[in-house]
Amino acid sequence: MALLQISEPGESSAPHEHRLAAGIDLGTTNSLVATVRSGVAETLPDQSGKFLLPSVVRFAAGDSTVVGSDAKAAAAEDPVNTVLSAKRLMGRGLEEVKARFPKLPYEFDNDCEVVPRIKTVAGPVSAIEVSAEILKSLRQRAEDTLGGELSGVVVTVPAYFDDAQRQATKDAAKIAGLKVLRLLNEPTAAAVAYGLDQRAEGTVAIFDLGGGTFDVSILHLKQGVFEVRSTAGDTSLGGDDFDQLVADWIVEQAGFDEDRSIRYHRQLMNIACSAKEALTETQQTEIDLQFDDGSRWQGHLGRDEFNRIVQPLVKKALLPCRRALRDAGLEANDIDEVVMVGGSTRVPLVRESVGEFFGREPLVHIDPDKVVAVGAALQADVLVGNKSSDEMLLLDVIPLSLGLETMGGLVEKIIPRNTTIPVARAQDFTTFKDGQTAMSLHVLQGERELVQDCRSLARFTLREIPPMVAGAARIRVTFQVDADGLLSVTAREETAGVESGIEVKPSYGLTDSEIEQMLLDSLSHVEDDVAARSLREEQVEAQRVIEALDAALAQDGNALLSAEERAAIDSASAVLHDAMTGSDHRAIKRAISALDKASSEFAARRMDSSIKRALAGHKVEDFS
Ligand code: ADP
Ligand code: MG
Repeated sequence: MALLQISEPGESSAPHEHRLAAGIDLGTTNSLVATVRSGVAETLPDQSGKFLLPSVVRFAAGDSTVVGSDAKAAAAEDPVNTVLSAKRLMGRGLEEVKARFPKLPYEFDNDCEVVPRIKTVAGPVSAIEVSAEILKSLRQRAEDTLGGELSGVVVTVPAYFDDAQRQATKDAAKIAGLKVLRLLNEPTAAAVAYGLDQRAEGTVAIFDLGGGTFDVSILHLKQGVFEVRSTAGDTSLGGDDFDQLVADWIVEQAGFDEDRSIRYHRQLMNIACSAKEALTETQQTEIDLQFDDGSRWQGHLGRDEFNRIVQPLVKKALLPCRRALRDAGLEANDIDEVVMVGGSTRVPLVRESVGEFFGREPLVHIDPDKVVAVGAALQADVLVGNKSSDEMLLLDVIPLSLGLETMGGLVEKIIPRNTTIPVARAQDFTTFKDGQTAMSLHVLQGERELVQDCRSLARFTLREIPPMVAGAARIRVTFQVDADGLLSVTAREETAGVESGIEVKPSYGLTDSEIEQMLLDSLSHVEDDVAARSLREEQVEAQRVIEALDAALAQDGNALLSAEERAAIDSASAVLHDAMTGSDHRAIKRAISALDKASSEFAARRMDSSIKRALAGHKVEDFS
C-alpha cells in the first residue's frame, strides 16, 4: 500500500498566484470533481447542473466517445460498446478479470494477456483508457468552469488498492493529461472533508457503501498524523444489490415468468432503483411498469416492506465492520466518529443499523456522494501550494506480515500484518553450528508458518561472523518499513559489529486477490501448519543433537568409550537418522530422548575430563 506524506510546498510565506487544483473521486458507479474556491471546497456541476458523472463510457465508430448519463442510458441498447464499472478491472490481468467477473457482457481481445482489452467498435480498449475518458470529461468540466488549466489533481482510490491498481489509476490520469499530485485513499479523503485531521487524536470508522462495492476503514489520527489501521469490505455489495432485491420483489408481486424478467431486466432494475431512492425521502412509493409489448403493472412499496427486503444486505455489511475492528484490535465503542460515504448510505435503514452497530450517530451532514471529492480537493489545494502545509502526514499499514526464514523452513514473523508504517522491529538470532562464519537471511511475506507457503521477497548473507560455538553469536536483524512502504532489512553481529543489509519493496506486484488468497490460506491451514511446524522443529532439534554428538565423538569418542558403548550410541543415532526422514514428529522426539539416554554417560565423562583439563595447573583456591 502506498503512503501519503504531505509535507512539501515549502515557501508558504512567499505569496504566489493561486493555482488551479482539483480533487477527483473516480468511482465505480459515479465520479466527481471538486475544487477549493475562496477557501471553500465545492463539487463542480456539469452544464445541466448535475454533479455526479456516471462512470460509464460508450465507444462509437469514429471519434464520438460518449461519457456519463448519455452513455449510461445507452447501456441497455448497446451493452457491448458501453463500459460500466471499469474501476473493477483496473490493474487486473485477463485471467483474473474472467475469473472474478464471469458475467461481463464484453468480448475481450485475447492477444493481450497483461492488460485486458474490451473489443468495441472503436477498437480494443483497456480499463485504463475507459477511466481516462471519465477523467478527461471531468478535467474539461473543471477547466471550463474555472477558466484555466489545472496545475494538478488528487485522485482518490480505495484504501485496499495495490500497486498495480494504483499505477493503473495514475496511468489513466496521465492519458487524460492530468498531473497527479498524489493518489489519496478514499476513506482518508472523507475524513479530511470532515476536518477530522484537525483533531488532536481520535479513531474514526469510514463506512463507504457505493453502487457496487462496500468498504470500511478504521483510521487513527494523532497530531495531524493519519493512519489507516485496517480495511475490510465486500467487493460485491452495493446499491445494485438493493436494486436487484427490489426488482425480485416486483417480479414476484407481478407474477412475471422468467422470460419476462430476463427480457425486461434493465427496465426492472431501473424502476427498482428509482423506488429505492424515493423511499429514502418518503414512506411509500408508487411503481408503474409499462412494457413495450403494451402490458402494464402498477403497485406500491412501503418503507417497512423495503426495509424487510434489504435487511439481509445491511446485515452483510456489518460483517466486514466487525472484521475491520478486530484487525485494528478495537471494540465498537473505541470509535470516536463514524463517517458515511457513498450514495447507498442515504438509505435510512443503513444509517440506523450502522449507528446501532457503532453505538453513535454517524456523520452525514456532508453529502455522501461528494464527501470523497471534497476531501481530495482540500488535499489538492494544499499540495499545489495554495495553502501553507500544516505538515499533514497520512500513514498506512502493511497488508501482510513480514518475516524471516528460520531453521527447518519455518517463518518467524517480525512485523505482523496491519502494522502501521513507518515501523522498525528488531529480533535477535544466533548461529546454529560451531564456528559458523556466515548466515543467510531469507525475507518473506505472508501469514503461513512454512517458507514454501509464503512469498519470497529477498535473500542476503551476513558474512565475517567471528567463529564461535553454536548459539554464542548474537545477530540482531532489524526490519524497517519506511513511509513509502519500502522495506529494508539489516543484520548485525553484535560482538564483532559486522553488518549486512538489503532493501526490498514488499507490496510490488502482489494483487489484492493474492493478498486475500494468502490470508484465506493461512486460516484454512491452521491445523496443517501447526503439525508441520512441530515436525520441522523436531527435525531441527534432531539435526542439532546429531551434529553435536558427531563432533563430540570425533573429539573424544576413542578415548572415552569402549567398543560396546560406542556401538550402542551409533545404533541410537541410526534410529534417529531414520526417524528424521519420516513425518512423525513424535517418533523423532522419542528417538532424540533415546539417543540422549544412550549418550548420557559419554556426556558425563566428557564433562569430567574437560573439568580436569580446565583444573589442570590451577590451585583449588583459585575457584572458591
Ligand atoms: P460508487 O462509489 O460505487 O461510484 P456512489 O457512492 O455514487 O457509488 O453510490 C451509488 C449508489 O447510491 C447507487 O446504487 C444509487 O442507487 C445509490 N443512491 C443514490 N442516491 C440514493 C438515495 N437517495 N437513496 C438510496 N440510494 C441512493
Ligand atoms: Mg465511491
